[in-house]
Amino acid sequence: MSYDTQPKASHFIDGHYVEDTAGAPIDVVYPATGAVIARVHAATPAILDRAIESGVRAQKIWSGMSGTERGRVLRRAADLMRERNHALSVLETFDTGKPYQETSVVDATSGADALEYFGGLAGSLTGEHIQLGEDWVYTRREPLGLCVGIGAWNYPTQIACWKGAPALACGNAMIFKPSETTPLCALKVAEILHEAGAPAGLYNVVQGLGEVGASLVNDPRVDKVSLTGSVPTGKKVYAAAAQNMKHVTMELGGKSPLIIFDDADLEDAVGGAILGNFYSSGQVCSNGTRVFVQDGLRAAFVARLKERLEQVVLGDPQDPETNFGPLVSARQMDIVKGYISKGIEEGARLVCGGEALTQDGFWLTPAVFDGVTDDMTIAREEIFGPVMSVLSFTDEQEVIERANDTEFGLSAGVFTRDLARAHRVVAQMQAGTCFINSYNDAPVEAPFGGMKMSGIGRENSKEAIGHYSQVKSVYVRMGRVEAPF
Ligand code: NDP
Repeated sequence: MSYDTQPKASHFIDGHYVEDTAGAPIDVVYPATGAVIARVHAATPAILDRAIESGVRAQKIWSGMSGTERGRVLRRAADLMRERNHALSVLETFDTGKPYQETSVVDATSGADALEYFGGLAGSLTGEHIQLGEDWVYTRREPLGLCVGIGAWNYPTQIACWKGAPALACGNAMIFKPSETTPLCALKVAEILHEAGAPAGLYNVVQGLGEVGASLVNDPRVDKVSLTGSVPTGKKVYAAAAQNMKHVTMELGGKSPLIIFDDADLEDAVGGAILGNFYSSGQVCSNGTRVFVQDGLRAAFVARLKERLEQVVLGDPQDPETNFGPLVSARQMDIVKGYISKGIEEGARLVCGGEALTQDGFWLTPAVFDGVTDDMTIAREEIFGPVMSVLSFTDEQEVIERANDTEFGLSAGVFTRDLARAHRVVAQMQAGTCFINSYNDAPVEAPFGGMKMSGIGRENSKEAIGHYSQVKSVYVRMGRVEAPF
C-alpha cells in the first residue's frame, strides 16, 4: 500500500510544521512488519520554548472570544475529521498496528465526537448568580491557561482529542506530547484544528520521550497537566506538578474485574469478555482482564470462548477483514510474553493462544488462562496485551470483595439477567467506569476515569469542564461598608 507516513516535520507549533534536527531522532516503526515508516526528532529546549510562548499568546486571543465562536471552530474541526476518516484511520493503523476494522470506527470518529460535543458545550459555560439579601455574588468560570496533554501509545488520535477538546472549549491552549512510540496522529489533529480556524499556537504538538514531557510539566508557564499513561509515570508527573500546585488529570492503568454470574446470557458474556480483553490486541487501559465466572457457567464459558477465538482473523491490519493486529512494539511484546511465561510457571492453565508468530512484526495470538487464582502475577499486574485470566467464584459477596482487592480502580463489568443484582454489585465496585451486560463502551457523553491508583479527574462529559476551568467568585456589596473602627 502506498501511503506517505512521513510527516512534513516533527512538530506543529504556532500554526506550522516545524523541524529541528538537533533533537534526538525517533524512528517510527510499523508494528505489523517492524519496518521504519517515518522519523521524527525530539523537541529541543528551543522548540519547547516556541511551543510554550505561542501557546501563551494564542490562549489570550482564544479566551477573549465568545464560547459560541470557540465552539464553532471545534465543530468545524469535527467535520474535517469525519471527512478525512479514511486517511486518518489508515495513519492510526500505521502508527499503532491496530486493525483498520477498528481504527475506521473508533479513533478519528471518537476524536470527532469529542470535538463536536465540547464544541456544543462551549457556548453554555457560564458562572452563577447567588443572591444574599441586597448583596450578591456572581461566579466566573475561567480557563486555567496553558494546558499540557501527554499521551499513551494505544489511542493517539483519541487521546489528543479527548484532552484537547475540553481544554479548548474552556478557553485554554494546549501543548500535546504524544508517546514517542506513536508520534504521527496528533500532528493531524493539530493541523485540522488550525485549518478549522484555531488561532496559531492554540494547539501545538511536540515530540519526545519522557524527559520532554517532564520539561513541560516543570515549566512555570504551564498551568495544567493531563496524562494518560501508567501508574509509575502518573506518580512522577503528579509529584512534579505539585511543586507549582498545577491542576492535574491522571488517566492511568487498570486491572479491572469482569464478573459473570451463572444466569448471564452466555453469548453476550463471551462477547463482552472478548471485547474487554482482545480489542486493540488487549492494549486498552479499561480492559476487564480478571474475568470472574460463577462456578455453574465456567466450563461452558471457557469452551465457548475457545471456539469463538478460533474465528479471530489475524493478518495485514490495513485489510478491512482483519480483526486482530500486532502489539505496538518489540518491547511491549517482550513484556507480554514474560507475563505468559509467568502465568504458566505459577500454575495457571493456558487454554489457548499466547504463541509468538515467526514473522516480521510483533505478533502474539490471543491468550486465555483458566484456573487463575487471586495471588498470581497475571491476576495482579496490568499486562496491557492480549491475555485473559479466568477465575472462578461461588457467591456474590465473595466476588465483590475479590474484585475490589486491587490497587487499581478504573473499570468493572457485570453480566447477569438479574438487574437488581447488577445494580447492587456495581454500586459496590471501587471503579470509576462500570458496565452492566456490556463492556468498554466509551461515549463522549459519559464521564470516564479511575478511582484509587487508576487516576484523578474525569475525561469526557460535563465532568471534564470542571477539570479544565476554575471558578472565581465575586462578592458585590450594594450598601455601605461597616467596619469596627
Ligand atoms: P507510560 O506511562 O510509559 O507513558 C505515558 C506518556 O508519559 C508517554 O508519552 C511518555 O513518554 C510520558 N512520560 C514518561 N515519563 C514521563 C515523565 N517523567 N514526565 C512526563 N511525561 C512522561 O505509558 P505507555 O505509553 O506505556 O501507555 C500504557 C499505559 O497507559 C498503561 O498503563 C495504560 O493502562 C495507560 N493508559 C491509561 C488510559 C486511561 O485513560 N486511564 C488509556 C490508555 C492507556 P514516552 O513514552 O514517549 O517516553
